[in-house]
Amino acid sequence: MKDHTPDFLELIRLAATSLPPDVERALRAAVEREEPGSSGRAALEAILQNVEMARAGSTPICQDTGTPIFTVHHPAGWSTRALREQIRRAVAEATHRSYLRPNAVDSLSGRNTGDNLGDEHYPTIHFEESEDDALVVDLMLKGGGCENVGAQYRLPDSRLKAGRDLEGVRRAALDAVHQAQGKGCAPGILGIAIGGDRGTSYIASKETLLRQLDDENPDPALAELEDRITEQANMLGVGPMGFGGATTVLGAKVKATHRLPASYFVSISYMCWAYRRRQMTIQAGEAAYS
Ligand code: SF4
Repeated sequence: MKDHTPDFLELIRLAATSLPPDVERALRAAVEREEPGSSGRAALEAILQNVEMARAGSTPICQDTGTPIFTVHHPAGWSTRALREQIRRAVAEATHRSYLRPNAVDSLSGRNTGDNLGDEHYPTIHFEESEDDALVVDLMLKGGGCENVGAQYRLPDSRLKAGRDLEGVRRAALDAVHQAQGKGCAPGILGIAIGGDRGTSYIASKETLLRQLDDENPDPALAELEDRITEQANMLGVGPMGFGGATTVLGAKVKATHRLPASYFVSISYMCWAYRRRQMTIQAGEAAYS
């Protein structure tokens, strides 16, 4: 099996330093919605200037380069052990080259490993065998501040008057945005999972953040819910970085998974404006990036 460490390194560089086009388009559209001279508009203009500088200089978009989360779809017969080793080597090299900040800290001692390599959960790597003959790898860099304002609800929730239905999901999502109050670096993007157990629900909420911002949910009810949550979150007035304004979120993505009859979890992964995700496809030994 070929050594794809350099390809993984390029995937990390791209994710850390160049915001995806759909996210940048959404931020540029958001600037136009904010009042001229307002703090919210100034925050978005500073964000966009920073995005351009990071891309031009191959420097990180944000000082917190986040938790690297890899989702690997591999053809049958590929060694996941070898792929894991290549990914870990690439992560260490990306840290050495300052594409990534050393972020892996031992939870008990507080010691930073210095190379972003922790135990088997850090960096996070999910493997899935596919029927395709290409290797497809998604990488998301999930910032710590936005991870801190993620939330999980167990419905029904009497405080929110939220039942076990899509109206209850809407109430939970808006509560999470309200509680965040711009922390986690708004404008954010909501990855929402309905169902699962506590663990799989959070995993699904992050998976849904791999969708394009401007795509459409194939389920009409969920598509409508995504639009309503986005519209109503933006009526809260929290605004960019919590300065007030028209743009509190750039979008919401909802996924429903199966659950036990006894449980109805709604898990919300909040992604900050530094919505760093990139994809690499390797076919016939050649890597392409998007
Ligand atoms: S939440 Fe996002 S933008 Fe804010 S500091 Fe963390 S990574 Fe950076």
